[in-house]
Amino acid sequence: MTTQTGKKKKLFIGGHWVEARTYQSLKSPYDQSELAEIPVAEKEDVTKAIDAADNARETLRKMPAHERTVILEKIAKGFEERLEFATEILAKEAAKPVSTARGEVQRTIQTYKFAAEEAKRIHGETLPLDAAQGGENRLAYTVREPIGVIAAITPFNFPMNLVAHKVGPAIASGNPVVLKPASQTPLSSLLLAEIAEKAGLPTGALNVVTGRGSVIGDVFVNDDRVKMITFTGSPAVGIALRNKAGLKRVTLELGSNSAVIVDKDVNIDRLIPRCVTGAFAYQGQVCISLQRVYVHEDVYEEYVKKFVEKAKELKLGDPLDPSTDVSALISPDDVKRAESWVNEAVQNGAKLALGGQSSETVFLPTVLTDVGRQEKVSCQEVFAPIVVINKVTSVEEAVGLVNDSSYGLQAGIYTNDVHTALDAADRLHVGGVLINDIPTFRVDHMPYGGVKESGTGREGIKYAIEEMTEMKLVIFNRNN
Ligand code: NAP
Repeated sequence: MTTQTGKKKKLFIGGHWVEARTYQSLKSPYDQSELAEIPVAEKEDVTKAIDAADNARETLRKMPAHERTVILEKIAKGFEERLEFATEILAKEAAKPVSTARGEVQRTIQTYKFAAEEAKRIHGETLPLDAAQGGENRLAYTVREPIGVIAAITPFNFPMNLVAHKVGPAIASGNPVVLKPASQTPLSSLLLAEIAEKAGLPTGALNVVTGRGSVIGDVFVNDDRVKMITFTGSPAVGIALRNKAGLKRVTLELGSNSAVIVDKDVNIDRLIPRCVTGAFAYQGQVCISLQRVYVHEDVYEEYVKKFVEKAKELKLGDPLDPSTDVSALISPDDVKRAESWVNEAVQNGAKLALGGQSSETVFLPTVLTDVGRQEKVSCQEVFAPIVVINKVTSVEEAVGLVNDSSYGLQAGIYTNDVHTALDAADRLHVGGVLINDIPTFRVDHMPYGGVKESGTGREGIKYAIEEMTEMKLVIFNRNN
């Protein structure tokens, strides 16, 4: 295995570590110290990566399922062996508090294990063609075939596990990948390339190109050999990619302004710690962060008071300090944006119950109440430690407010009434409804994805494999 020990990193193309013509400095979001020099791939590098992936297509397509399983198990093992190193990478490049970062690496291991298992379960079905007149005496079955070269584009916020959600199912279903990680978090993908190489993944089956999203994305959409683009990131970029992708299959895992409803009669003490975690884990930079809370008027005052008390206990600071709960936002621009959105809401009548400012790169956990539905902190994705808590007179009103959004990823409802819960589940227009939980719940084998501007297609290994394979029908005419 080639290990990239120095600060200057290389691209991973066709099984080789390749220098780029230009480099950019990767800085720590927390203290702005230089972490590495990252290669900036040019068009030619990306085309070479697609060449390599295309060359690996037949090898992967013919590889038996049990061999794909073994490779994925070895990738999981590789992360297990480097758990602490991988954790440190995430803490440094993403400013992810170290305990949360370790949790992400553990989930990454599990995601590759799920992929190893799903590799063995890809199959079609037999069809009773004789249900139609003229269909007698024909044996019909479907198979699922690998789609071909997959271009994967990933965001900064879960740079290891969201990559695993694309590379895992792609390898499981026999597809080569060209991976473009977010510019702020390339180190975790370069580590994956090292681990995958050691795990025996065939040459060209995984290629990692770092650099500017727009440059690399353009090569992906314009190359006919790329059969699928799997994108996780912001709606603006995802929608633009889909508009340019023509007949390529495109899955989009985009943003949200996720909400939870709190009905009267629920035990507030029990749900407060969970809600505070949902709002502020990883500084609110989670696609299913709890951004909006609609609380029944009977328990509203109690909820706000206890939420603010609990949020005050959060410890701010260095992501590498094990006691830190909330660290830096991903960029200084995001700190400014968060501050201006909060100020705008307050000028328009919202009340600030906690936070509202920053301490250098760290934006303080912020609670706003009485927020108008047109405020950016309510109707756009905040992606910062900011939560809006508003009063409602009924669950019905709350469901209307949750649905009054251009997004629809996941939503939660806390209630003791089973009819209220199931009615809300029927009416909430989202990809997933959580009853008696926050919308921030995810485990890695569940179907995950959104409606409206939250995206199209589903991840969660088995479901991603459906997107990454094509159905072929075979009919054997036994009448001759
Ligand atoms: P982003 O700015 O959209 O970037 C995502 C990826 O797209 C990065 O690799 C980026 O590269 C690349 N990119 C940028 N411009 C591009 C272009 N023109 N063509 C092709 N690729 C391009 O998103 P982010 O700030 O990293 O991530 C936060 C967003 O991701 C939030 O909206 C969040 O909700 C969403 N998200 C969704 C899910 C989900 O499963 N639904 C999960 C996590 C995050 P550069 O870094 O080089 O610009």
